[in-house]
Amino acid sequence: MHYLTRSPLPTLEDRIVDHLAKAPATRSQLCEALDTSRTNLGRALATLLRDGSVSSARTSTTGRGRPTQLLILNATAVHSVGLNVTRTSCAGVMLSRSGAILAAVHLVSPASSSLLECVEQTCEALAASAARQGVDTSAVRAVGVGVPIPMGRHATASPEAYPTVAELTRVTRRWWDPVPVVDNTVRMAALAEAMWGAGTQMSSFIYLRLSGGVGGCVVSDFRLVGGAGGLAGELGHMTVNASSSPCACGKRGCLETVASLPALCEHAGVSDIAQLRSRVLAKDARACEGLDRAVAAIGYVLGCAALLINPGAIILAGEIVDAFPSVLAAVSARMHEELLPVMQWDIDVVGASLGPLGAARASASIASHSATADEPTSAAAADGLSARCRPASSAPAHSRAKAAP
Ligand SMILES: [Zn+2]
Repeated sequence: MHYLTRSPLPTLEDRIVDHLAKAPATRSQLCEALDTSRTNLGRALATLLRDGSVSSARTSTTGRGRPTQLLILNATAVHSVGLNVTRTSCAGVMLSRSGAILAAVHLVSPASSSLLECVEQTCEALAASAARQGVDTSAVRAVGVGVPIPMGRHATASPEAYPTVAELTRVTRRWWDPVPVVDNTVRMAALAEAMWGAGTQMSSFIYLRLSGGVGGCVVSDFRLVGGAGGLAGELGHMTVNASSSPCACGKRGCLETVASLPALCEHAGVSDIAQLRSRVLAKDARACEGLDRAVAAIGYVLGCAALLINPGAIILAGEIVDAFPSVLAAVSARMHEELLPVMQWDIDVVGASLGPLGAARASASIASHSATADEPTSAAAADGLSARCRPASSAPAHSRAKAAP
């Protein structure tokens, strides 16, 4: 379950789309411009014509020759849909075959709603937005969903608290037919940073999100790493000395128990981040102590992780970083204390540059690439999932997911 963070070489379909985005063309013109045979062009065009990305129109003729077909890119046809649902917000985008955003929505997650209800509301809002803008959703080829559940195959704790992939599929298919590619929100956010944000062109980095939980993942050698079972990068559940508090995961003393937003608020005796920020700005001893304790624990964990993968950067995301930008430098200083002093390290600690729409776009993007890859395997079909759920791994997917950061 890993994804490449650099675009692979464009397919012939991609090149046709790019060419037609500039101007309509005939088959002969495409063959010449793309230096390909009529047979290969015909195969690639068949897919694009079938999914509605390209349409053809007969040109009027004044002479005796056969009329020619002019191929036209349908710029308003939705090719892929991406959703990203977290405990605090829901985002959805619709992309054309060329990757242009045709519709987008961003909602605040209702506190009382279940994850499935949030997905449902996002689908509904996105479909309504598309209808208002008149985009064509008749031939959606791919759907990607980012949800705050881990994708590991051995996830077993608190199964009743989270929906299955099959349940998510039943919801999205009420709007769009393709079986969705489902992955973790933090992984999708990191993938977005790798492709379009703070990690662009960066071969290796660690992404850590400090929010309602602490979620992490790793990009190594231009791959968003999944590991053997899809659980690589669960840095929020490394044990730190600063705490012995119980964690939602079932352990005690995880990083999440000192560095998540709820942990910081509880330590400071406040109920939300606005109050926490006020207390820290007022130099309240308890609030500042909690933040310092979190920074030390985050720096320690990132230092250990940095020794493992030698990242070019750490990308920190989440409300805590937004509210306290100074944690970037403080975490960097603490992390460097963990690194080998005799070696040269060059690791920037930077903030994330994309929001929830970026993660939704990443979900759409992986689904779009998966849609043109292998058909579902028999094993995947047997457990009700699509091979698209695991495009770059042979690891079987889980049927239930556990409590997540
Ligand atoms: Zn934990």
